[in-house]
Amino acid sequence: MNETQEHYCSVCHRPESVTGRQLNMGGMYICMDCMQRTIDVMSSNGFNLTNMMNNMPPVMVDGLTSGTPGTGGGSDSDGKKDGQDAGKNKTEDEAERQNGFDPFSFFKLRTGQSAGKQLKEDDEPPLELSDVPAPHEIKRMLDEYVIGQEEAKKVMSVAVYNHYKRVATGTMDDIKIEKSNMLMIGPTGSGKTYLVQTIARLLKVPLAIADATSLTEAGYIGDDVESVLSKLLADAGNSVKRAERGIVFIDEIDKIAKKQDMHSRDVSGESVQQSLLKILEGTTVEVPVGATSKSAMVPLTRMNTRNILFICGGAFPGLEDIIRNRLNKTSGIGFTAELRDQYDSVKNIFSRTTIEDLKQYGMISEFLGRLPVVFSLEALDKGALIRILRDPKNAIIAQYQKLLALDGVDLEFTDEALGAIADLALEKETGARALRSVLESRMMDIMYEVPKDRNIGHVTITGDYIRGKGAPVIRMREDGITGTGAREHALSDGNAK
Ligand code: ADP
Repeated sequence: MNETQEHYCSVCHRPESVTGRQLNMGGMYICMDCMQRTIDVMSSNGFNLTNMMNNMPPVMVDGLTSGTPGTGGGSDSDGKKDGQDAGKNKTEDEAERQNGFDPFSFFKLRTGQSAGKQLKEDDEPPLELSDVPAPHEIKRMLDEYVIGQEEAKKVMSVAVYNHYKRVATGTMDDIKIEKSNMLMIGPTGSGKTYLVQTIARLLKVPLAIADATSLTEAGYIGDDVESVLSKLLADAGNSVKRAERGIVFIDEIDKIAKKQDMHSRDVSGESVQQSLLKILEGTTVEVPVGATSKSAMVPLTRMNTRNILFICGGAFPGLEDIIRNRLNKTSGIGFTAELRDQYDSVKNIFSRTTIEDLKQYGMISEFLGRLPVVFSLEALDKGALIRILRDPKNAIIAQYQKLLALDGVDLEFTDEALGAIADLALEKETGARALRSVLESRMMDIMYEVPKDRNIGHVTITGDYIRGKGAPVIRMREDGITGTGAREHALSDGNAK
């Protein structure tokens, strides 16, 4: 590039130093972003790029490849960074072309035509009906990991079973019942994400978790809705067939509710809901392979979302007021004021949610229409938190016990200690999420000190110790045997810090 003569994009007027490499179209320059937008618009109107390329006169091909290099971060089809090309002259460009530089790599990037190169042979076998466990089996498997939330586990087991039964039998389109996409409502740390993760693991299907707040409508800064599908594809080991029957969990869905404030012009949440409609229902989408950003110079592949199970989750703060108001209003007709307030203290008020309540909250009807399975999770009380510490297959307490057992030390928690941990976690108001951090802070000293003394054989964690009022009860080994092979191993690995 001539140092003094920077090219400007004819469409957006930004210089090449900002946009990165621009295409020289017979003396008119155009940046990648504008080129991409043009292609998007043309493609959505049925334009066939391959035909255009095949019919293009050679002189235009020359023009396209002689664009001068910029400083952008894109890479061409051979994986070279634009920045690495800086300072190249026209002769080098020609040499590059002769060496296989593809003048249309820019276009191919976003038209899906080069994706095949990146994807391995997709020999994923189809899902068989026998692979799909019955609802009671799914529920039983969930019970091993997820404490409480009985109703949610039951509803999910049935919905997931129905969904995969239709996928396995190829009847997703035949049956005129809606897809089993779900909307789960529950406070922070009640196990929404954990339920979805557990189901995906048990069913061995790929899972992508996205945060609704990071999603934007196409063309705005942030993740495009399609980027969620890239994550799913990555989790499926780039097998499109596997990804096409995966699960997508969109968390914090309440954050894209329509704003209640009529004076504000902020409609972004509503537009994100709109942009999700098609993929929730089932459509073919061009998805970047190996990256989540649409603007990156990455190949695309086509994915159909018809068989993908979408689960949306959110805490919906404030929804309880809408539900209570509705309930109090209906019951209040002809009754006294005291009776009218009878719902103020109802436990798990979210279980009474109706579509109308969600609409009033700011979710649009079309969006709700695509999430036919709506259910709620309860806030976890002290009893549930204690059981979460102690009972699941991979309980946190058991994890600590296993770690210390490697040092030949028995670790015990009194019931009072478990209660004290649950109390401290409840204070943080983040549900079960707080359990691990509370326990970690209390166990830090134990995990550091105990391995120092090889005579220690048994540690009892008491309620007082958890509350910071005493020391743990330590018993020495009765047999006087100090250390074990396992313990030496743990220390030398640095695991016992
Ligand atoms: P949410 O998505 O509702 O905010 P999470 O599912 O992320 O909450 O929960 C945080 C962590 O708390 C999980 O990783 C899990 O270890 C634990 N947890 C939450 N709820 C339960 C539950 N019902 N049973 C067992 N563990 C749970």
